[in-house]
Amino acid sequence: MSPNSILYEGKAKILYATDDPAVLLTHFKDDATAFNAQKRGSIAGKGEMNCAISSHLFQLLETKGIATHWLGCPAPNQMTVRSVKILPLEVVIRNIAAGSLCQQTGLPLGQVLKEPLVEFYYKNDALGDPLLTLDRLLLLELATSAQVEELRQKALQINQILSDFFGKCGITLVDFKLEFGLDQQQSILLADEISPDTCRLWNQSSADPEQRVLDKDRFRRDLGNVEDAYRQVLERVLAQPIQPEGEAML
Ligand code: UDP
Repeated sequence: MSPNSILYEGKAKILYATDDPAVLLTHFKDDATAFNAQKRGSIAGKGEMNCAISSHLFQLLETKGIATHWLGCPAPNQMTVRSVKILPLEVVIRNIAAGSLCQQTGLPLGQVLKEPLVEFYYKNDALGDPLLTLDRLLLLELATSAQVEELRQKALQINQILSDFFGKCGITLVDFKLEFGLDQQQSILLADEISPDTCRLWNQSSADPEQRVLDKDRFRRDLGNVEDAYRQVLERVLAQPIQPEGEAML
């Protein structure tokens, strides 16, 4: 699957066309940005690590019946994916208060939420990815109300699967962001990536609010040891085999 022209270059990935119009190639970069690209840097090996972590998690989700865009990994920092039309929404799922939820509501960092919270943000850099109300989302026709309900259900299902999985890795899934796309049949597929760039992940073996951080907050907040944190996530994730449904160990 040889890469052809660049279709899109984002902050962390480059998307290429391939000879097959149904298949795209994603190149994961080491570049890191935060605060709507006001902070820029590089995390050595991030591209390969995020590609491997995402691939493992997409395959896990596929075994649990969640349709994703993942097709394969032709190289360590490359992923082949189904071509989809990305919905201009960032779907954020939160289990524990952190980040913008604390800043905007006053909830204390680390407060466990009674129920997972699903939020929709408008994927629009020029506007700074604002938080949407359901009415604004429908007003802007970013998705239909049936699609919103399907996205919410999928997001909660994915949260359950990933929380259980990261729990086995000794990691708490605090919050994370998902993106979805529509295929030719208008079916919703999980797209983009799931990695320490897009999740808040806390090491369960540390109670220290800085030491426990195993995700991009180390870069955002200049906590140091960013590469080590990503590598720990990679190693713990890859150490957990994916069991196909119905083949549970007796
Ligand atoms: N997130 C992301 N991309 C974004 C915004 C958020 O991947 O453009 C992830 C972020 O890593 C975190 C979750 O979504 O895991 C919730 O982020 P939040 O709204 O708290 O914003 P932040 O504090 O990261 O700016």
